Amino acid sequence: MKKDTVIIGAGLVGSLLSIYLSKRGYNVKIYERRADMRKEKIAAGRSINLALSDRGIKALEEVGIMEEIKKIAIPMHGRYIHNADGSTAYQPYGNDGQFINSVSRGELNKMLMDLAEKNGAEIFFNERCDAIDWKKKTVHFENAEELTTIHYQLAFGSDGAYSAARLTHQLQHDRFQYQQYYIDFGYKELNIPAGSNGAFMMEKNALHIWPRGNYMLIALPNMDGSFTCTLFFPFEGDPSFASLDTKEKVRSFFEKTFADAVPLMPTLEDDFFNNPTSSLVTVKCFPWVRNDDFALIGDAAHAIVPFFGQGMNCGFEDCRVLNELIDKHNEDWHLILQEYQNLRKPDADAIAELALNNFVEMRDKVGDPKFLLQKKIETAFSKKYPGKWIPAYSQVTFSPQIRYSDALKNSAKQENIMQEVMALPGIENIWQDEVVEKMILEKLH
Ligand code: FAD
Repeated sequence: MKKDTVIIGAGLVGSLLSIYLSKRGYNVKIYERRADMRKEKIAAGRSINLALSDRGIKALEEVGIMEEIKKIAIPMHGRYIHNADGSTAYQPYGNDGQFINSVSRGELNKMLMDLAEKNGAEIFFNERCDAIDWKKKTVHFENAEELTTIHYQLAFGSDGAYSAARLTHQLQHDRFQYQQYYIDFGYKELNIPAGSNGAFMMEKNALHIWPRGNYMLIALPNMDGSFTCTLFFPFEGDPSFASLDTKEKVRSFFEKTFADAVPLMPTLEDDFFNNPTSSLVTVKCFPWVRNDDFALIGDAAHAIVPFFGQGMNCGFEDCRVLNELIDKHNEDWHLILQEYQNLRKPDADAIAELALNNFVEMRDKVGDPKFLLQKKIETAFSKKYPGKWIPAYSQVTFSPQIRYSDALKNSAKQENIMQEVMALPGIENIWQDEVVEKMILEKLH
């Protein structure tokens, strides 16, 4: 008899996990705090669209749903940089044929829920988890009318960055490690609508970035021809969300700073004041598992900042790794859960660090000629020696066979080498010389 399994949260990760487990014959019930987004329009809680890349795709392929999801995905082959002086530049993300995908969070979540139900999972909506009784093995849910107590043999907390499951786990766990870290920047979504007949008003197959040193605007394409822009901006100081406190100040700041975007944003001021300003948190905790029957997964275990576009991809990878461990340990949940957290914790910590570092790269370095030269040297070297050098971005984004923790180590080593290369006198002129290539090869040994 396969276990009665309770999943708390029908977000992206909980829904995917239910598909994996239902396919294996587990009796899965998901309890979701919000209403059914397939029936009611739900205010966007997080970003409207997301970058889906190879780690997430690998999991979606494994459960056989990537072909469906491709229908709502827009390939983005590179970064399209909008410089402050009005010039633009295009930087491919990887080799030919490598790209990330812009996907609507809502559509993806709805599709995953449909597929979860199709595979036998039941989803209960408007049910908010407020406690777990570890001894009785019950989860308590509250809806508008009543409290329900659900017995479990196996339970997962996939209820996101502000997880209630994690909180009960934490409060009743001796020596529970917990760390949350807010950066001084928040984000706000803005809109570039489609042109006539649903035309894209900028290059469709790219992630647009307006890097401005301390802050940035980005834009990802949507299926209807619009772009969702996100302003990552300081909460305090000048300029900041606090300082842009009138419509006039917003317009004048945007016209000065994002001149080529403003004509495409007819509802700029309204969007700016109507849309929420949200914070960005990193959450680290340990242990993720309890007894032989409970685990945190996805953002509930490891919320990260969005600058590598990996939060969901990492959560999907959690599901894939867990599924592999079910096979490896032949359904022995003690062994499965122990190895799950031992493998995933260092990887989640690594991507948390990589994501924080990538903010500086996106908002500042992508517009810096020295950084661009460094990338050019790395790309040329990795094309010639693909077995010796995979650029850090490609390790994280296009190489699911490389663990995040290894990608972090490798990228630190590569960065040290590149710092030495970039310090060579006249590197701008000699970067294609044999001496540079030799130096990299030597340092790699
Ligand atoms: P969530 O998506 O947060 O889902 C949790 C679910 O649990 C929700 O449905 C919620 O309603 C429910 N819930 C919460 N509390 C309870 C409760 N008490 N009881 C029952 N249910 C509950 N990731 C990427 O891979 N690529 C990107 O490009 C990307 N961009 C991002 C941009 C921004 C601005 C942000 C903030 C995040 C971004 N992410 C991205 C990260 C991504 O959004 C998360 O990693 C992902 O949503 C995690 O999925 P999850 O299912 O773990 O959590």
